[in-house]
Amino acid sequence: MKSKISEVFQSIQGEGKYLGVPQVFVRFYGCNIKCDWCDTEASLEREEGSFKESSSQDLLEVILKEAQSIHSVSLTGGEPLLQKDFLRELLPLLRQRGFLVYLETNGILFSALEELIDQIDFVSMDFKLPSSTGQKAFWEEHKAFLNIAIKKDVFIKNVISLSTTEVDVRFAAKLASEVNRDIVFILQPNTLEIQDGIVDQCQRFQKVCLEFLTDVRVVPQIHKILGVR
Ligand code: SF4
Repeated sequence: MKSKISEVFQSIQGEGKYLGVPQVFVRFYGCNIKCDWCDTEASLEREEGSFKESSSQDLLEVILKEAQSIHSVSLTGGEPLLQKDFLRELLPLLRQRGFLVYLETNGILFSALEELIDQIDFVSMDFKLPSSTGQKAFWEEHKAFLNIAIKKDVFIKNVISLSTTEVDVRFAAKLASEVNRDIVFILQPNTLEIQDGIVDQCQRFQKVCLEFLTDVRVVPQIHKILGVR
């Protein structure tokens, strides 16, 4: 079986709870939604794009070449769980080589997660707030997803843009607290709006979330600030 892979490279994790750890990133091509501010070509719904078709064995060889003293292999996208059948082949190969697996996901495809969760170590799960993404709400999917991901080291990431509403943020925090009120809950300011008051908005939302949760952090995308991939 082959999968569409946009790129494989080593860098530092630029988002979330594991900010700064060295990882090999495997960027899968294709996504099941289209957020307004998406910066990933892989999300575009088109046949032509920048990707290479790769088998799990070939991809493993590329990862082995790239990996130098890494914390984990980050499966990112796009949405990696769209490639569930391919991941069923790849994940055992990674684990046989001693790699920890870090999944970056939009937190919607819970059935796929359920099949793969035993072979995943870390889950960086987005909550897609409708007022941030311009998409419909995925609350039911997020809750089902989180109830599976909670078996592993999971944290939640919410991109906050100037259009994000307090109603959505409050709902998200409450939903997370119903699963685990101590979960790491990250408010990530939209990098494009850093100069436009978004950090103040994140701090205001942080207070709202702390009514429900114990560990709410405002964390920017540091790879963009540092100018690395
Ligand atoms: S889920 Fe991620 S990859 Fe997909 S459209 Fe949204 S930001 Fe882009």
